[in-house]
Amino acid sequence: MVEIESQENPPIVLLADDDEMMRILIRKSLEQSGFWVEEVENGASALKLFKSLIPDVVLLDVMMPGLNGFDVCKEIRKLPEAIFTPILMITGLSDIKSIERAYELGATDFITKPVNWDTLGHHVRYLLRSGKTAEQLHKSKEALLISEERYALAAKGANDGLWDWDLHTGNIYFSERWQSILGYDYGTFGNTLQDWFKHIHKDDLQHVEITLSNHLEGLTEHFEHEHRMHHKDQEYLWVLVRGLAIRDTNGKPYRMAGSVSDITRRKKSEEQLIHNALYDTLTGLANRTLFSNRLSHAMQRLKRNQDSTFAILFLDLDRFKVVNDSLGHQVGDEILKTVAHRLELCTRPGDTVARLGGDEFVILLEGIQDIHDAEKVVERVQADFNEPIQLQHHQVVHTCASIGIVMGSPAYDRPEEILRDADTAMYRAKSMGVGRHQIFDPSMHHHVLSQLHLENDLRRSLEVNEFIIHYQPIVSLLTGKINALEALIRWQHPKKGLLQPNDFIWLAEETGLIVPIGDWVLRTVCEQISQWELSGLSKLRVAVNISAKQLLFDGFVDSVARIIDQTGVDPGVLELEITESAIMENLQIAKDVLHRLRDLGLQLALDDFGTGYSSLSYLQNFPVNKLKIDRSFINQDDSNAENRDLVNAIINMAKSLSMDLVAEGVETHSQLEWLQNKSCRLGQGFLFSHPLSASDIEKLLASHQNLLKKH
Ligand code: C2E
Ligand code: MG
Ligand code: MG
Repeated sequence: MVEIESQENPPIVLLADDDEMMRILIRKSLEQSGFWVEEVENGASALKLFKSLIPDVVLLDVMMPGLNGFDVCKEIRKLPEAIFTPILMITGLSDIKSIERAYELGATDFITKPVNWDTLGHHVRYLLRSGKTAEQLHKSKEALLISEERYALAAKGANDGLWDWDLHTGNIYFSERWQSILGYDYGTFGNTLQDWFKHIHKDDLQHVEITLSNHLEGLTEHFEHEHRMHHKDQEYLWVLVRGLAIRDTNGKPYRMAGSVSDITRRKKSEEQLIHNALYDTLTGLANRTLFSNRLSHAMQRLKRNQDSTFAILFLDLDRFKVVNDSLGHQVGDEILKTVAHRLELCTRPGDTVARLGGDEFVILLEGIQDIHDAEKVVERVQADFNEPIQLQHHQVVHTCASIGIVMGSPAYDRPEEILRDADTAMYRAKSMGVGRHQIFDPSMHHHVLSQLHLENDLRRSLEVNEFIIHYQPIVSLLTGKINALEALIRWQHPKKGLLQPNDFIWLAEETGLIVPIGDWVLRTVCEQISQWELSGLSKLRVAVNISAKQLLFDGFVDSVARIIDQTGVDPGVLELEITESAIMENLQIAKDVLHRLRDLGLQLALDDFGTGYSSLSYLQNFPVNKLKIDRSFINQDDSNAENRDLVNAIINMAKSLSMDLVAEGVETHSQLEWLQNKSCRLGQGFLFSHPLSASDIEKLLASHQNLLKKH
């Protein structure tokens, strides 16, 4: 007999037998073994009770009236909740047939009558336990299946390949997707570590091996590595391989499995992002960030080792803006690309060529001996620039560059400092003309600094009104009478005294301050004209100088019209002097602006004539009334026959175009006589009068002097 087990929830036994005696005995025996027994006397009741009771074990007598034990067993097995319920058949017929039948219908076991009461409890308990185990096994199998399925599904969804490595046999299962990622048909990739590793990029292989063995040795929790792998027919692709080793109780790995993902697209866009952050999109050259980075490395090397000399070349294309504005940005871009390419050809592979923006390029020359090496590169670059650039549509442009050179020095701490000095040297080169180069020298700093001060002063001077206007007479070479005046600006600087236009106009032009300054000059002159008219002085034409920046400034004509309107002067007494070079800077705009000024009724003079490149045919296209021969042609010693010929030609040309002509810079009587002989009508120069303040001019005008006879 099995001893009674005290249990709170005893296992429930459903017992079906038509023999009451049998039921009593079985119940007694099982209750003693700790079971809870529910009994019924026929098959139909057994089936009914099963559904509401859900017993842990079923005991069925085979021979019952109505539904016999076999029928009940068969029906119970159909119920989903009965899949794992042990069913024990009780049979009086110990023939093989009935036992086989019982098994076929889903019985778990059988006992024969007479029942062995000593072992019945054990038997049922055993059945119960094995039923439970079967159920658990089934459940965990099912769970495993679900999780495997889930994993496979996830891997498929992520488009990942799978691998599973048996470390005992050395075989690796590579999933179909794994193989197809690398371009292989399923089954053609191989199944060993060797097959795998021979596809890894040689530069990445060692690191993959180290990472893998670290994981196998238990040093890392996961294996995870991004590297390049050889595709069957493409170059390389980027993969992310993950894995996890499974270990025995000693911690020794016996299996490792994981996934592989194709991350080429991500890597490419990462690379693109990095590329965009470090390279100029137009030219493909390094950008400022990358350049500064390389430069600071070169600086660090130089600090460690005095022999690792380097130099910086700072290039700025000359007159690029003019080309860009007149030929369009597309052409501008094409030029920049060609220049970039040429610069790369002029340098060695270790050098860095970068575009800082606009038309500014820099070159870092490393491993050079001294400044002469840098100059050699500059010569190569300049020689290359001599070659015209062939554009699409058979256009050809000539470019040249101003280049500043700085040698690296341990005294520099930051890349910006060197770049600043290279920029300064470049500016100095530019101020010497086009296509020049200049080596940086520290004295340039002072120059830049004083320029900076001057710029600040210039901004302030407009507000505090430190400018004044002087007037210089333009004299009739026939009568000696004043024919007109030229207004010339001066700056009464609080510290530096009276400054001449040459000291500051260039800076005003560079900073754009010339626009408000020019407006001020025009307004002041117009106000002066009105005032002179009011005080009864004879009506004199006054010429005002206009710089290229003003002329090309949008709204210039409007502002002239406004000033004339507001001051009420007769536009006919106002003359604007424009230099040839201002017109040449942008022929189309200049022509348009000049026409509009003429339409306002203004007079126009071409200043400093002869210094530019105008030809006679050109001039006919521009609505100018007057030519002013530059003083460099007049103010020469008499022996310069070539100049005299040129002045001759200019005088004749002006006559044939019926333009007025002024000879500038007349200083001597012999110059005057020569001009008179050539019947040049007007002259301006120290011989007649220096530029004078407004009040001195008033006195001069009032005296009605013949200025030819002054000396
Ligand atoms: P510019 O228009 O050719 O003016 C004539 C310059 O020649 C004046 O110099 C004048 O003082 C100088 N000059 C006149 N006669 C003689 C002479 O016999 N010998 C010599 N050696 N020089 C003589 P300044 O006043 O220094 O002006 C220089 C330039 O500055 C002007 O050349 C003009 O281009 C520019 N400028 C002057 N005022 C203005 C202004 O208000 N606006 C603009 N944008 N430019 C101005
Ligand atoms: Mg002038
Ligand atoms: Mg002039």
